[in-house]
Amino acid sequence: MTTAATRLPDSSSAALIAIVGADNVCTDGPSRLRRGSGRSYLDLIRRRGGDVSGLPDAVVLPGSHDEVLAVLGRCVDDDVAVIPFGGGTSVVGGLAGGAGEHRAVIAVDLARLNSIGAIDAKSLLVTAGSGLRAPEFESRMARYGLTLGHFPQSYEFATLGGYAATRSAGQASTGYGRFDDLVAGVRLATPVGTWKVGRPPASAAGPDLLGLVLGSEGTFGVITELTLRVRPAPEAKHYEGWSFRSLPRALEGLRQLARAGMLPDIARLSDSAETRANLVLAGGSKAAALQTLLRARGHGSGCVLILGWEGDNDTVGVRRRAAGALLRRCEAVRLGRSVGHSWLANRYSGPYVRDALLDVGLLVETLETAATWSDWMDVYDATRAALTDSLSTSDKKPLVMCHISHVYPTGASMYFTVVADRDDDRPLQQWLLAKRAATDALLVRGGGLTHHHAVGIDHAPWLSQEIGDLGVAVLHAVKDQVDPTGICNPCVLFGQP
Ligand SMILES: Cc1cc2nc3c(=O)[nH]c(=O)nc-3n(C[C@H](O)[C@H](O)[C@H](O)COP(=O)(O)OP(=O)(O)OC[C@H]3O[C@@H](n4cnc5c(N)ncnc54)[C@H](O)[C@@H]3O)c2cc1C
Repeated sequence: MTTAATRLPDSSSAALIAIVGADNVCTDGPSRLRRGSGRSYLDLIRRRGGDVSGLPDAVVLPGSHDEVLAVLGRCVDDDVAVIPFGGGTSVVGGLAGGAGEHRAVIAVDLARLNSIGAIDAKSLLVTAGSGLRAPEFESRMARYGLTLGHFPQSYEFATLGGYAATRSAGQASTGYGRFDDLVAGVRLATPVGTWKVGRPPASAAGPDLLGLVLGSEGTFGVITELTLRVRPAPEAKHYEGWSFRSLPRALEGLRQLARAGMLPDIARLSDSAETRANLVLAGGSKAAALQTLLRARGHGSGCVLILGWEGDNDTVGVRRRAAGALLRRCEAVRLGRSVGHSWLANRYSGPYVRDALLDVGLLVETLETAATWSDWMDVYDATRAALTDSLSTSDKKPLVMCHISHVYPTGASMYFTVVADRDDDRPLQQWLLAKRAATDALLVRGGGLTHHHAVGIDHAPWLSQEIGDLGVAVLHAVKDQVDPTGICNPCVLFGQP
């Protein structure tokens, strides 16, 4: 693959080198290629097809907040757009916007902002650089008997700054809270200076400005540092599986748990299609025995629910037993710990299957939303139908699977995985049409535009439908204040300028 020559003027390059050092400004093809997109199906298909358009003209790795400020200042002067790069795991085109109307674009890779600052174990607050990855943060916290408790499926690669910029949710967010809930403060470098937001433990000083920065996807500036709410590492962890005869019954079981304030820390419910696929993928004698048990209980085309409790020994036992009693009243069958532990052992491996499926000519992509309990089934049915209709061929239907990974008192998330025959004559168009049909369908039924993947480029056309024209105007007004020349990730969130 040959990458286009960099458009960054020599004078800009020299100025950036003066700020961060020659070792931290890269214009070679591989460095630019690695930071030029995320991990969505569209990103992967484009690159696999040899499309290397839209790459940053350079990659800059600042080593401090002040260096980020200086880089932004220079980019304003030279009309160069800036795309913050964390772990590169965006699945909504958050890194693929390019220069927009600007003369060139750089990726600001935050990998060097990876230190841990103040650890206030008494207040359970820890300050860390935005480029730090969660495994490193967790292992440092473990030395103090603390945990953050944020475990998205991209855990191995994504960064703390990326989580904040996209309002991520992890596998244990039902109990520990979404990443939004774990952030107590943020330091943002903007083209007009430093913006510090957040005042722990709580504040009533006007609207919540921290909430404005979370989810800003690099469009208001670069998050350089976060103050995070940690908690004591759990003494006990207990994971187990349950099964229900049907999705509506399982949904009712989860709703009852939420209503009674008995939600566990991890709740992951697969619909019957995903349950079947998981059993087939697991293979072996244990999966066969489980299938036999499910059939014997009349749950042969039912749904498996994984539940997890974390905390001190006594509380975990009490919460688990209370939840179990309620689930039995909802006609659920307990499958035991081995099912929970098998999920735990494979919790990050699912996405790796995707590359193998792409290799054999399949379309594999995911799509997520959330809905209130009242709307949930409607949104589920409509989204499934839209995906199935759009991706069916004369002789084959796609496999459309769904799970819930986050449960709230008011409703739950919905995460669809789609596997279909790929149309190699128009692979991008094929998915874009299906995604549009599904998004239109779910929005009409009351689903949300995105529960945790963020807006990026992919969801930008629907943003005003989600937050209203006035909401979009408010965000524009903030952007105009902090980024008057519009250099910060110009095509993301708001769409093409
Ligand atoms: C296999 C896989 C599984 C996933 N599972 C989950 C999941 O379980 N839950 C979930 O929520 N998401 C998931 N995602 C999506 C993705 O991991 C999240 O959006 C994650 O928060 C992105 O973090 P990152 O560090 O990789 O950010 P990047 O992908 O590098 O960037 C994402 C966006 O944030 C901006 N950005 C990054 N860092 C900063 C910063 N410091 N300051 C300002 N802007 C910044 C970027 O410009 C970009 O627009 C998954 C993705 C993959 C590929």
